[in-house]
Amino acid sequence: MNTNQSIKENLEAIRSRIETAEKKSGRTPGSVKLMAVSKFHPAQAVVEAFDAGQLLFGENRVQEASEKFPPLIEQHPELCVHMIGQLQSNKVKKAVEFASCIQSVDRLDLLKEIEKQCAKLNRTIDILFEIHTGEESKSGYTNEKDLEESIEACIKGNFPHIVPKGFMTMAPFTDDEVLVRKSFISLRELSIKLQDKYKELSLTELSMGMSGDFEMAIEEGSTLVRVGTAIFGERDYSK
Ligand SMILES: *Cc1c(COP(=O)(O)O)cnc(C)c1O
Repeated sequence: MNTNQSIKENLEAIRSRIETAEKKSGRTPGSVKLMAVSKFHPAQAVVEAFDAGQLLFGENRVQEASEKFPPLIEQHPELCVHMIGQLQSNKVKKAVEFASCIQSVDRLDLLKEIEKQCAKLNRTIDILFEIHTGEESKSGYTNEKDLEESIEACIKGNFPHIVPKGFMTMAPFTDDEVLVRKSFISLRELSIKLQDKYKELSLTELSMGMSGDFEMAIEEGSTLVRVGTAIFGERDYSK
């Protein structure tokens, strides 16, 4: 990451690397979406990315996102933000006021709360099921029985305000490429298996890959990469 480069230049470089990875792995050009993860970066950074044509953003923390995004979305309704961090139930009410997707659904109780809050606002929201695929990461469904229970609740019509779109995972935080790739492969294989079992739903979104590993994720079938550092630079956690 060259910190002298602008957000615009970084975005152009990432888009071009995505295109190359799509070609290399025989993926349809344009089939991989780029999310700009703006956590810990100011609204001004989001505006710079927006001015460079970026419309999809990701945030981890509801409080931070709720300060940054609603005014920007009001000005530019085509801009959207997904929540990608672990979500406490008491934060759902605020999150569904501005987020267009919650990618970090990891339990049935969270679906119930999302349904309740979206019903109150009379809106629908997209969700992804977050899957635990790496030894070292903590978040996501860890067992298939719980995951299937959640999917089946959606199919039964328990959550009319929720549209399940697919799956998300965080690869383990390690330099071991084999482990990272294994995590992406296991998400792809799980998604194929569940899509086959639950034909009532269209679970085609595979959100995987970050700054350090998005090309590998694309090779393994990612449809949405979540890139922060390579666009906005290092995060300053002391703020
Ligand atoms: C922070 C974060 C990212 C972006 O990570 P970078 O390494 O900065 O690209 C992607 N996904 C999730 C869930 C994150 O929390």
